[in-house]
Amino acid sequence: MTTIGANLQSVRTLITTACEAAGRSVEDVTLLAVSKTFGPEAVREAHAAGQTAFGENYIQEAVEKMALLPDLRLTWHCIGPIQSNKTRLVAAHFDWAHTVDRLKIAQRLSEQRPEGRAPLQVCIQVNIDGGPTKAGVAPADALALAREVQALPRLQLRGLMTIPDPVTDPAAQRAVHDKARALFDRLRAEGLPLDTLSMGMTADLQAAIEAGSTLVRVGTAIFGGRHYAPR
Ligand SMILES: *Cc1c(COP(=O)(O)O)cnc(C)c1O
Repeated sequence: MTTIGANLQSVRTLITTACEAAGRSVEDVTLLAVSKTFGPEAVREAHAAGQTAFGENYIQEAVEKMALLPDLRLTWHCIGPIQSNKTRLVAAHFDWAHTVDRLKIAQRLSEQRPEGRAPLQVCIQVNIDGGPTKAGVAPADALALAREVQALPRLQLRGLMTIPDPVTDPAAQRAVHDKARALFDRLRAEGLPLDTLSMGMTADLQAAIEAGSTLVRVGTAIFGGRHYAPR
């Protein structure tokens, strides 16, 4: 087995263990392999080991990578910041966008989603723990934005996404993820049909699953350390 294949196996085992500990079904947690900064060969290796969902932060890099993998049936998730001048690329090439935090970006994505494609699957990024300079909508504004996004014709609103500041203490990780879960539950109680809570990365996977994450975004534990940022 390749290193990436073995790493994927370990991550799947971690997810299974965390689900069992939390009394959750393992089918309720999707593993997104975050392949940013790694080339198409790494994606091929992961795919050969059964992985089909991939996350990318840098839109230009992602689109170039996708073009080199036309033979694989993969699902691509945009998990990086989306500037206005990148919405067309995201709408044309990705299946999911997790980082929608402004109505203007959502409107552009909806307008630019090609007619022949399924609606773009969208999560609203929430600034669950941070100060005013962090990406993501303030928790208090999430419901209003979710309602506006839900009304856009070429988007399908799926849920919420968070990127908490890194902390090592599991109880502190859990406390932040619990806040996101509470917000998710509140929006569902308001009638929004959300099924995706995108939270948890290599370092806080377990705490995120305990708190109710339905999609963990894992890079380092699958592909190894990242040695460069391409942009
Ligand atoms: C890079 C990244 C990840 C993966 O992080 P790891 O710590 O390598 O697992 C997950 N989510 C987002 C938004 C990222 O930018």
